[in-house]
Amino acid sequence: MSHYVKFTNQRVRTDIAPFDALTELNACRRKLLEQRLIGLDANGIGFGNVSIRDGVTSNFYITGSATGGLPELTPTDCVRVVAFDFANNWLRYEGAAIPSSESLTHAAIYESDPSTSAVIHCHDLVLWRTLLDRVPTTSKAVAYGTPEMAYEIIRLFKGTNVRNRKILVMAGHEGGIVTFGQNFEEASDVVTRATKGIISLHEDQFS
Ligand SMILES: [Zn+2]
Repeated sequence: MSHYVKFTNQRVRTDIAPFDALTELNACRRKLLEQRLIGLDANGIGFGNVSIRDGVTSNFYITGSATGGLPELTPTDCVRVVAFDFANNWLRYEGAAIPSSESLTHAAIYESDPSTSAVIHCHDLVLWRTLLDRVPTTSKAVAYGTPEMAYEIIRLFKGTNVRNRKILVMAGHEGGIVTFGQNFEEASDVVTRATKGIISLHEDQFS
């Protein structure tokens, strides 16, 4: 039984410069908002986040906490993650926004797959139920925002074909789905195909 390690973060500057991928990020979010894959839940709480790698570095830009419902983001709604430590559930960032505790899930994907430059984390209960255990799936015992979730992601990259399928389900985070790719177009194509039921589902392909 693992002990609970609270997510903490350290801001090193309060602003980030406008970044080239922001236009692409907003275009991707617009599509996700239309499909209600990100947005506001019944309690008015924003859900879902997207991120983009900063060039070929291990840094990345991610949408800030509670921005899920905003139609268009500016740099003040995003943070640039510049360091992280899974074991301590900690990250260092630049920007005015607050990084989500789900940022380390994105970090685990960038760390596991150098060819990935964009990550989408969305919520859809119907899709989640359909995909659960039929695409690479993190353990039900593991909640989002914990070091264990980052380790689960790393485990999937080592032990399943998630690198090729570019989609995973978080069993311990109801509705939680992650897709990724070389850019936002690829990552959002994966989720769109999944919502249309045109991805292959194999119970035992990845076990
Ligand atoms: Zn989530």
